[in-house]
Amino acid sequence: MSKRDYYEILEVSKGASQDEIKKAYRKKAIKFHPDKNPGDKAAEEKFKEAAEAYEVLSNAEKRQRYDQFGHAGVGSAASGGYGGGGMSMDDIFSHFGDIFGGGFSGFGGFGGFGGSSRGGRRVNKGSNLRVKVKLTLQEIANGVEKKIKVKKYVECKHCSGSGAANGSSYSNCSTCHGSGQVTRISNTILGQMQTSSTCPTCGGEGKIITNKCPQCAGEGIVRDDEIITLNIPAGVEEGMQLSVSGKGNAARRGGINGDLILLIEEEQHPDLIRDGNNLIYNLFVSIPDAIMGTPVEIPTVDGKVKVKVDPGTQPGKILRLRGKGLPEVNGYGKGDLLVRIQVYIPKDISKEDKKMVEKLKESSSFDPDKAEKDSFFSRMRNIFE
Ligand SMILES: [Zn+2]
Ligand SMILES: [Zn+2]
Repeated sequence: MSKRDYYEILEVSKGASQDEIKKAYRKKAIKFHPDKNPGDKAAEEKFKEAAEAYEVLSNAEKRQRYDQFGHAGVGSAASGGYGGGGMSMDDIFSHFGDIFGGGFSGFGGFGGFGGSSRGGRRVNKGSNLRVKVKLTLQEIANGVEKKIKVKKYVECKHCSGSGAANGSSYSNCSTCHGSGQVTRISNTILGQMQTSSTCPTCGGEGKIITNKCPQCAGEGIVRDDEIITLNIPAGVEEGMQLSVSGKGNAARRGGINGDLILLIEEEQHPDLIRDGNNLIYNLFVSIPDAIMGTPVEIPTVDGKVKVKVDPGTQPGKILRLRGKGLPEVNGYGKGDLLVRIQVYIPKDISKEDKKMVEKLKESSSFDPDKAEKDSFFSRMRNIFE
């Protein structure tokens, strides 16, 4: 859709003064105001169009750019349709104070744009509950079903959450006649305007309990313990939050329950260190085992696995056990278990051992100058593999 000229929209001349532009916009805003044209999409578009034109032409700098470059000169307002990249209804109304001299707060309430609180009775909402859940690495690796006991507001069983002593003891609120809203007519520059607000008598519920349930004092909720079964997916990590819809505090008098928010905590594993989805295990081998090679057992989240340390293994070498790490949460694929080989160098050794080490020293194969120099490079290869 090509855009109409801003001057044309407001029906003013190119040389119009700020005052003329303001007046012209007022006229359009009143004519196409959504409250005056309920449900009329064309009027709404015209209303937005006028607001956009005014937004540009009322600003000396933007107006100058528009005069020079047309729609392309005024940035975001030029991209997309009028409803899209342009101004939101909230933007438009926030500017109304400038034009009409304030006192327009009552406007927030016109139908269709005002947001969720509008139009009818209030529904009570229970508050969210937060609990910490501590998991072992094994539980994280496989996912786990956990039962937890939570102290919270639950529906009162005596009145089934209605708050009334018996099902029939409700009456419509006499202030708002059951609508939950009170409406006030006021005279404004746009003519008579309706403003509505939450009924103060019933708090927006539209009804009043004549005979309150004695167990919950008419609230419909009581404090109690509840056992909740949680299905925690595999791959979660410390600090992650999971939301269980509707398992938070029950709402007063049959409203919508809050959510249960789980804060994941990770129990430290005695041997394995978590690094994202990978796990790291530090394997210490003796000097003879590093030289001769040896079978070893490596702990994983699902028990031990047998691995071979090759003869001539250098300290710092990393063995990668593919798929033995943790799964991606809500996804496919698994991390690896990285076995970092450390060669244990004893500090205090016996006289006999000392003699043997002296002997090794004389052996040409223990001369580092003659040794393979690939230790460093093989380590790098392992890291970047
Ligand atoms: Zn009750
Ligand atoms: Zn009421």
